[in-house]
Amino acid sequence: MMSPYSSAYARSLDSQDALAHFRSRFAFDEPDLVYLDGNSLGRLPLASQALAGEIVAGQWGRRLIRSWNEGWFDLPARIGDKLAYLLGAEDGEVIVADSTSVNLFKLAVAALRHQPGRTRILTDDLNFPSDVYILQGAVATLGSGHVLEIVPSPDGIHGPVDALLARLDERVALVVLSHTVFKSGYVYDMAAVTAAAHAVGALVLWDLSHSAGSVPVDLDGAGADLAIGCTYKYLNGGPGAPAFLFVRRALQEALANPLSGWMGQHAPFDFALAYAPEPGIRHFLTGTPPVLSLALIEPGVDLLLEAGMDALRAKSVQQTEYMIALWEEILQPRGYTLKSPLDATRRGSHVSLGHAEGWRINQALIRELNVLPDFRAPDNIRLGIAPLYTTFEELHEAVERLRRVVDDRIFARYSSHRPVVT
Ligand SMILES: *Cc1c(COP(=O)(O)O)cnc(C)c1O
Repeated sequence: MMSPYSSAYARSLDSQDALAHFRSRFAFDEPDLVYLDGNSLGRLPLASQALAGEIVAGQWGRRLIRSWNEGWFDLPARIGDKLAYLLGAEDGEVIVADSTSVNLFKLAVAALRHQPGRTRILTDDLNFPSDVYILQGAVATLGSGHVLEIVPSPDGIHGPVDALLARLDERVALVVLSHTVFKSGYVYDMAAVTAAAHAVGALVLWDLSHSAGSVPVDLDGAGADLAIGCTYKYLNGGPGAPAFLFVRRALQEALANPLSGWMGQHAPFDFALAYAPEPGIRHFLTGTPPVLSLALIEPGVDLLLEAGMDALRAKSVQQTEYMIALWEEILQPRGYTLKSPLDATRRGSHVSLGHAEGWRINQALIRELNVLPDFRAPDNIRLGIAPLYTTFEELHEAVERLRRVVDDRIFARYSSHRPVVT
């Protein structure tokens, strides 16, 4: 019997993996690199590399401004429809625009204006800090006496579901949560939270940044109102690629985009001076899209659609379970703690480990051991698993290097100084 902790066992899991061939669709030029940061910046699809050349030389270089009518103008909605399919929404409910932060501002302000008389906004302390800053900015911009309540997690890992639900009443305008939280990977039950909020007349805005392309999402099935999310994480859209936003069809005409720019205007090329929003999802657009990075989102989304979210989720669960089994046997005795939910149904596609020497271990992994995880203060080592291209052997190798860095005290050579971008 092969030991389940051996590298041979990891290779046998890879040999049985029906999605293994997708790895060859991505750019790899460092065979020894263990990349576990696909949840911050997804790998480069080879098709995106080819498309970049075509867009720059062919569309921009040769077709020039004619390209706007040869596909560019339709890109936000066309890629939005593909994302809608991936996220359980309908055509015309998702569009690509701006950044996640900007989309959050647009939808939060729109939702708060739509709920006059209600002044409470609920979120949790596991949410991405930028989301909280944006909500604070939205409250200040509106100047209508809204109060943002940040409900604390019971343990820093799980969402404070009971406490959130207990705070729901007729004064709550909006609940804003990360569906999959960025540190622990906890996943909220979207349908249950949405139903509870709707029961008191509140709206819910979900940040899907760590869910899109990693966990199945059924926006319409869950009765979701509003959502936003990144494309450069598990969707492999490229650094700083524009984000997406979702508005349930029934709310689209009732909500007004506070950043009412010409891309959301009905007939923008009439150049009329009175803003008249285009019906449907388009009026949540603002200005001219960054065509190069927008267009490069599509190949990554196509790969996810080809693989299928159910198959990807099955592999992701198998891989996070495998990682946790290795942690229990090999890493826990060396001071690593598990900072992600044990229950796979409430866990996304990354596993967070804590360690008293977390920052120095992270430095040693990056600079000496050729492992790229990512680090979140104060001691959180995030191991992002992207089932489209992460192998079981890589996970085994990551654990082996995490073991070595402690056993050989390699981390002790690094200082505890932290640079700006981690
Ligand atoms: C990554 C991430 C963001 C990033 O927002 P940007 O506007 O792209 O900088 C926002 N929210 C969450 C939950 C994230 O994980």
